[in-house]
Amino acid sequence: MSAADQTTQPVIPHWIDGAEHASTSGRTSPVFNPATGEVTAQVALADENEIALAIASAERGFQVWSGYSAAKRQTVLFAFRELLNSRKHELAEIITAEHGKVVSDALGEILRGQEVVELACGFPSLIKGAYSESVSTGVDVYSLKQPLGVVGIISPFNFPAMVPMWFFPIAIAAGNAVVLKPSEKDPSAALWLAALWKEAGLPDGAFTVLQGDKAAVDGLLESPVVESISFVGSTPIAQYIYESASRHGKRVQALGGAKNHMLVLPDADLDGVADAAINAGFGAAGERCMAVSVLLAVEPVADELIEKIRERIGRLHVGNGAGVDGVEPDMGPLISAAHRDKVSQYVDIAEADGANVVVDGRGFCVEGSEDGFFFGPTLLDRIPTDSRAYTEEIFGPVLSIVRVASYDEGLALINSGQFGNGTAIFTNDGGAARRFQHEVQVGMVGINVPIPVPVAYHSFGGWKKSLFGDAKAYGVHGFDFFTREKAITARWLDPAARGSEQGGINLG
Ligand code: NAD
Repeated sequence: MSAADQTTQPVIPHWIDGAEHASTSGRTSPVFNPATGEVTAQVALADENEIALAIASAERGFQVWSGYSAAKRQTVLFAFRELLNSRKHELAEIITAEHGKVVSDALGEILRGQEVVELACGFPSLIKGAYSESVSTGVDVYSLKQPLGVVGIISPFNFPAMVPMWFFPIAIAAGNAVVLKPSEKDPSAALWLAALWKEAGLPDGAFTVLQGDKAAVDGLLESPVVESISFVGSTPIAQYIYESASRHGKRVQALGGAKNHMLVLPDADLDGVADAAINAGFGAAGERCMAVSVLLAVEPVADELIEKIRERIGRLHVGNGAGVDGVEPDMGPLISAAHRDKVSQYVDIAEADGANVVVDGRGFCVEGSEDGFFFGPTLLDRIPTDSRAYTEEIFGPVLSIVRVASYDEGLALINSGQFGNGTAIFTNDGGAARRFQHEVQVGMVGINVPIPVPVAYHSFGGWKKSLFGDAKAYGVHGFDFFTREKAITARWLDPAARGSEQGGINLG
């Protein structure tokens, strides 16, 4: 890509005041098609002026939108849901073109986001207050839930539609105005969603997209107008966001990285386990915060399980997520060349530390897409648990096997990790599963379910370094996060106590 080419490339804009807003910052970042390695556009990186414009527009949007009745807000939400459902294929193609995941997987993330939109459509029953009559003579106490104002959402590259939709449907339903700062690696999905809100009837300014990097994030963190921050991304940045937003007096929820283990007891159905491991380890090329990256095999099942997984890996088709001649592969590329190289280095580390590389995805190439950021499915056996490839998040299609002697040894390994996002146990023993759900120090637990992402009316979030702050995403936590409660204590004299001559109503 020459400098001349760059100047002729489209620049992906912001969305401010209900319309695309071209950037004048002079700063951009390249957006790639990871399947071909080509730069397809540049994305704007906001400067101070654009950050201020976006926040001011959201402030105005909040004044208008929070004045809408609940019924009118519901109409907009239902319209958004209908538009999203009928046009989701357009969005899926946009996601695949910038992220690389296969189209059916992109559709899957949209459907999981749509679940939250559907939950948010019923917001009146979820944010209505409570009323206690006659707490004292003539005194009633009741509570209201009101929106916060302008709220910030900062999202990662791996779910450019679903992760923002974990938050914004509920934030908007509750009457807030949203400023979304999407990942600069795949920024177009956010713009498409903004245009959809406009079509659904959301007033200008109530949904803003601020494209950018750290400068845009810091602008949101430091703005006195922004009341809350919802962040999803890697743990070091989640911790930074949590600390900085708290220091600036904001409500904050910051979801971080993960290292999810699947514990397989000897009585489990090993074919079912192998299918689950393939899906949860290699789906979306392992770039999921709920991907399974470690399989703890309680002996004597490891050898048999490895054979079953190796055989299934051999059948996986890796290629352009958009499909070729109508045939969709099982797995697409990674997000960038730099990330592919990082994943490769983790496999080098594991091997140097003594792991057995059963299937090696390093140097993987797709014919006809030699410049794409592909990495083949990789299976590591006997990875030492003090290797950085075991303790750190790899975020790629690398599944590691650790052989353990007992349930207790497996549980202790899971509980000793720095993360606590998701985990799963595979067994036919209900008593063992019941012990596991009680003893494991992880926020989301699957029992014979490899990726236990809760449905929209339960909340999503991990423990330990996978979530900073008190509130999880969506569900009841989401409605609590995006509203603040006001308690009112009211005393009214009974009209009979005053009499009609003192201005009271004669009730006869
Ligand atoms: P990331 O932390 O690099 O980026 C996330 C967001 O933060 C982006 O919008 C980015 O622009 C911004 N950002 C990056 N560096 C920053 C800095 N120094 N200061 C301020 N802002 C900064 O994460 P990513 O690579 O986009 O996403 C992958 C990570 O997200 C993985 O660790 C994955 O586990 C995690 N993730 C977690 C969950 C969850 O629910 N816990 C869900 C999805 C992804």
